[in-house]
Amino acid sequence: MTLSSLTPRPLIAGNWKMNGLAEALDQARAVAAALDARPAAARVAICPPATLLHRLSETLEGSSVLTGGQDCHAKASGAHTGDIAASMLIDAGARLVILGHSERREDHGETSALVAAKVETALAAGLEPIICVGESLAQREAGAALEVVTAQVRESLPASLAGQAFSVAYEPIWAIGTGRTATVADIEEMHAAIRAQLVLIFGEAGKAPPILYGGSVKPDNAVEILRAAEVGGALVGGASLKAADFLAIIAAA
Ligand code: PEP
Repeated sequence: MTLSSLTPRPLIAGNWKMNGLAEALDQARAVAAALDARPAAARVAICPPATLLHRLSETLEGSSVLTGGQDCHAKASGAHTGDIAASMLIDAGARLVILGHSERREDHGETSALVAAKVETALAAGLEPIICVGESLAQREAGAALEVVTAQVRESLPASLAGQAFSVAYEPIWAIGTGRTATVADIEEMHAAIRAQLVLIFGEAGKAPPILYGGSVKPDNAVEILRAAEVGGALVGGASLKAADFLAIIAAA
């Protein structure tokens, strides 16, 4: 199998986080209409808050824009007040799910072992996981970024991902929502290290999953970031909330 036959289309995924009321659907409609008129090279997804997921999936039905959840529980169902099951995301029209975002790891104490369990559950439900990894500023300044992130990859990705569609998102915590981005050299160094881990875990098939970059991706830095070696797309927070900004990033892929 050649490398090009292994290489999927880039993925540009918008993470709306805890933002978005009914009127935000207009932004998604505008993205879908623009991509219908001018199809993107990349696959495009929007991951809204759970309250909007079903409405967003209905709004985007028939368009090229996929929807995704921002988390799911590690168990398939049960007594877990306030949580959301992977099958519920599917039921609400989602195709993808973000797992292990640093805000979940920090705000909810999620460990890589828990993230791996969530990935298993998501796969069993038929979701395509976007698995997030990334170091803190203190870890980078201590020279531990590569070690921290490659350990997160080893521990957050279960063996059952072999042969499944998934992506890894490298998101340095200090770049998320701060307006700071990693340099292209730092991104390329980290993405190469993540790729090497994927090949160690999955063999030749580890060359296929896209490695997304996330952390203050904006229209004015998207071209440079998306052209970097081993960058297979972007996970976009703030700039995915406005159709014009998100479309400019999509056009750069
Ligand atoms: C994110 O939350 O995944 C993210 C990358 O956010 P932002 O683009 O706002 O930095």
